[in-house]
Amino acid sequence: MSEQTEQTLSGVVIVGAGMAGVQTAVALREQGFTGRVTLLGAEPHQPYDRPPLSKAVLLGKAEDSAFDVDFEGLGIELRLGTEVTGLRAADHELDTEAGPVPYEVLVLATGARPLTLPGTGGVPGVHLLRTLDDAARLRPVLAAAPATVVVGAGWIGAEFATAARGAGCEVTVVEAADRVLAGALPAEVAAPMARWYAQAGAELITGARVAGIEEGRVLLADGRALPAGAVVVGIGARPATGWLAGTGVELGPDGSVTADAHLRTSLPGVYAVGDCASFPSARYGARLLVHHWDNALQGPRTVAANILAGQPAQAYDPVPYFWSEQFGRFVQYAGHHDGADTLLWRGDPDGPAWSVCWLREGALVAVLAVGRPRDLAQGRKLIETGAVLDPARAGDPAVPLKSATA
Ligand SMILES: Cc1cc2nc3c(=O)[nH]c(=O)nc-3n(C[C@H](O)[C@H](O)[C@H](O)COP(=O)(O)OP(=O)(O)OC[C@H]3O[C@@H](n4cnc5c(N)ncnc54)[C@H](O)[C@@H]3O)c2cc1C
Repeated sequence: MSEQTEQTLSGVVIVGAGMAGVQTAVALREQGFTGRVTLLGAEPHQPYDRPPLSKAVLLGKAEDSAFDVDFEGLGIELRLGTEVTGLRAADHELDTEAGPVPYEVLVLATGARPLTLPGTGGVPGVHLLRTLDDAARLRPVLAAAPATVVVGAGWIGAEFATAARGAGCEVTVVEAADRVLAGALPAEVAAPMARWYAQAGAELITGARVAGIEEGRVLLADGRALPAGAVVVGIGARPATGWLAGTGVELGPDGSVTADAHLRTSLPGVYAVGDCASFPSARYGARLLVHHWDNALQGPRTVAANILAGQPAQAYDPVPYFWSEQFGRFVQYAGHHDGADTLLWRGDPDGPAWSVCWLREGALVAVLAVGRPRDLAQGRKLIETGAVLDPARAGDPAVPLKSATA
């Protein structure tokens, strides 16, 4: 590559063409950046949205979930099928199979990779659900409605189990912890959600470790063997940052790029955003690693603003938000409940719609809403402003949350 070509290639380079990478490119243009924007993505597909993969796309109700973004019109150079394998900070260059790519400013948006069960790679019938290719492989499997075992009762496991029941599969969900959503919610809040499995006709086995998977069956550590025409492993994901080891970009013990409050990494001119990056939250007094869609939408706006300002102009300290659609319920969560001292129920957890509010020293810090989107929307605003609630009124589902302030 000539020096002239290299120079014209410089500008903002974004690694990862998922939600966070695409939104960074779009936000740069929306905020008036006129320089060169290059978006490098390992996958060959037109950039797409992941939430529909465990919902409409999986069930064949939507063909794909490509983002409605006019890359050409926005002057964003999209290089698909381009995996970045190295970063040489001293040269301001990335390595790809197609050769080096220079950058002036770099944004890391490589997302996360799903964890696999050791020893199950290559076993026929074992699937993950992270990419469009995964969903495309699973669609015909579901259509054939085999007995299906889902490993992991987290958000993805629950959504996949919902889709598989919808497709008429016999479904068994195996969870190593003693309850569903063990990493996300306290036991008393997860308990009513565990009952949704049986109501949907799915068997839930908790406290069960998978000892191995053979073609056609899943072997549990207690000696049971579960027949399985298909197995879906949904046991979590880790930041896709292995390629950054030794590059000078600081990584945390969880593998995340440890960004600062302005989403800058330990290398000058290099930012990180989305599922691959953690950031310090002054709001919650903790470093957060958020693996949800809204974080991959909001973070890029901060990154773009800071790139344009050429200095740390905007701090990133959102109230995290996510939703999940499972067993016919719309579940939403906003905030962060670690450190909360009070938990309030709004409504009957065995009913179709209820919420939970977490308070810390009287202030609302998190809300979980099942079929109560108004609680979520109002709660989110109250969390943002640090509003103190009157527990008696906040615990009455007939009182709008916004009217329950102390
Ligand atoms: C099936 C599924 C359902 C979901 N449903 C919900 C939901 O209902 N609600 C919710 O809030 N969140 C949901 N999420 C989470 C949400 O989709 C993620 O938080 C979001 O996609 C994160 O975006 P990202 O751009 O950071 O990462 P990703 O979407 O993972 O995108 C990263 C991209 O970078 C590419 N890449 C990685 N390494 C390299 C490299 N070295 N070089 C080049 N490219 C690279 C990857 O191939 C990938 O395309 C769901 C996720 C999945 C998988």
